[in-house]
Amino acid sequence: MAQPPAPIAFIDLKAQQARIRGRIEARFAAVLDQGAYINGPEVAELEAALCAFTGAGKALAVASGTDALVMPMMAMDLTAEDAVFIPAFTYNATASAVILAGATPVFVDVRPQDFNLDPEDLERRVAEVRRNGRLRPRLVIAVDLFGIPADYAAIFPVAERHGLQVLEDAAQSFGARWDGRWAGNIAPVTATSFFPAKSLGGYGDGGAVLFRDPQLWEACEQIRWHGTDAGRRESVRVGFNGRLDSLQCAVVTEKLALFPEELARRRAIAAIYDARLAGRVDPQAFGPGAESGYGLYTIAVDRRDEVQARLKADAVPTAIYYPQPLHLMAAFRRYAPAGGLPETERLCARVLSLPMHPYLSDEQAHYVADRVLAALES
Ligand SMILES: *Cc1c(COP(=O)(O)O)cnc(C)c1O
Repeated sequence: MAQPPAPIAFIDLKAQQARIRGRIEARFAAVLDQGAYINGPEVAELEAALCAFTGAGKALAVASGTDALVMPMMAMDLTAEDAVFIPAFTYNATASAVILAGATPVFVDVRPQDFNLDPEDLERRVAEVRRNGRLRPRLVIAVDLFGIPADYAAIFPVAERHGLQVLEDAAQSFGARWDGRWAGNIAPVTATSFFPAKSLGGYGDGGAVLFRDPQLWEACEQIRWHGTDAGRRESVRVGFNGRLDSLQCAVVTEKLALFPEELARRRAIAAIYDARLAGRVDPQAFGPGAESGYGLYTIAVDRRDEVQARLKADAVPTAIYYPQPLHLMAAFRRYAPAGGLPETERLCARVLSLPMHPYLSDEQAHYVADRVLAALES
């Protein structure tokens, strides 16, 4: 059994907390002093900081990444006759959000190269929905899986041709870029998550809706507060309690200040993995013009479970995102396409996520690469 130069965490929130503990405590004290636990000045402060970082025109801090997906879909007034196209290889929240918003999910396969929504399969599924005539194609949710932007150069033209709106699920890709634009300013509307393990995480649940196109902003702002108008007296549409606490906004604002430096470290770790594992594993590849936010670093290998067990024995923690395709889960099986989704099903058996966080040393990253290569050999 080999041993790492220092214990390796899959994601290390403690090292980050040690850096900012004093600042977070001062922030908590400031919220306690000002006393507005809901809708305090910290909310607008975070929203302005998110716009400044991403280039989005507007931002809304909300209670979770799931809410950030549901709100724009509620603002679009979708119904059960509306088809929302989503990849089957993603976190379950993408699918749940569609159903919670009252629409019907239509699963699309992913591409083996980048593990993201396959624009050609999207085209086929839209055509199929049109032929069946039961649903209206309305929206595609492009997920930037593990931090890598979906293929927007191909997805936008398909969407435009078929009159689909585009919602970006950037829950894993804060800090990703495509065509010189940060996630949050790529698609007209973007949802992101501040779940603690995401690349920009809080100390609890949270999320944001980011608007390149401000058209849906007002409706989402109302939905976040029980569907009320600016005076908060009358519900002008159906909404819910989707706000993010002042305390949590203060935490995420502090963490956003660290984010550029942390992103640079994530990229440096990924560069080590890329170089060391090239030709030996199937990487999650991405094309020119795309930059990953490295929310996770995921490879595809044969005999995945064996490789994972060997890595565990060498004190390298790994995780499997995701072992099961959405269309085969009990909650979503009724939306499964006849014939299944072969690339999604293959990837679920082959993916393995390696340790990825800004507080890994170069030595630790090399150790991980050494052990992956050794595990593939044995
Ligand atoms: C985490 C995640 C979500 C949901 O975010 P929560 O903040 O946990 O509600 C949605 N989509 C994807 C792809 C995710 O990874």
